[in-house]
Amino acid sequence: MQQMNGKVALITGGSRGIGAATARRLAADGASVAVTYVNGEGQAQSVVDEIVSAGGRAMAIRADSRDDAALEAAIERTVAELGGLDILVNNAGIFLSGTINETTLEELDRTIAINLRAPVVAAMAAVGYMPEGGRIITIGSNLAVRVPWSGISLYAMSKAGLVGLTKGLARDLGPRGINVNIVHPGSTDTDMNPADGELSDPQRSLMAIPRYNEADDVAGLVTWLAGPEGRSVTGAEFTIDGGANI
Ligand code: NDP
Repeated sequence: MQQMNGKVALITGGSRGIGAATARRLAADGASVAVTYVNGEGQAQSVVDEIVSAGGRAMAIRADSRDDAALEAAIERTVAELGGLDILVNNAGIFLSGTINETTLEELDRTIAINLRAPVVAAMAAVGYMPEGGRIITIGSNLAVRVPWSGISLYAMSKAGLVGLTKGLARDLGPRGINVNIVHPGSTDTDMNPADGELSDPQRSLMAIPRYNEADDVAGLVTWLAGPEGRSVTGAEFTIDGGANI
């Protein structure tokens, strides 16, 4: 039997990158998965089609993380159509760069809304449905912990805030047997941060193993946390960054 059989997962921002890899991996281990997206309808549908053609269950839901009602409705649809909600992966995120004198209030609000507020809203909605054994896993960033360059204060702030959220939720939900953890990827080859981008060499220069993560590397860690072997891990941070932060 696959270890995720009978489990249902919702992954925000699952049309591409780390979210899509996590959806594919959880489904490969037997979970039914829902993915949200905003613009990537075709990409989200391809993720679903790939899972379904491999014999799994999946659905794609358009839900902008900035829209509380849409996020709540996505969780309700997941429960109604896939039969529950065991695993929430708060993955959707944006990276807006610029030094403090280049930053606009709109960028501040957008970063907080998508990267920080939405995981709180999603957790609030999800815990009403989650049984004992549930998991909330949030994708942070190694930049939450160490800030090696200028111009990333908004992003670092939003990801650092998720660390406090994770620890607080772990305390709130521990008595219900729900585990809450945060995964901090370093440089990961996605549309957000291509391994051949113009900023990739400076990132590699920070690493002990100078190689970008594949999205699947992060998906594997998330899936382990979501599975039975992760049952004693809660309130914890997991850095997966080729040693950039050591
Ligand atoms: P991508 O830009 O490749 O993918 C982002 C995903 O988030 C897409 O599915 C996108 O959907 C979705 N998304 C963006 N905005 C919203 C929104 N408002 N509402 C709902 N979904 C949204 O990013 P990655 O896969 O690289 O990043 C995933 C997570 O990992 C993010 O939280 C990021 O901060 C974090 N991370 C990434 C690192 C990296 O090096 N790549 C390093 C550290 C952390 P759509 O296709 O519809 O736009």
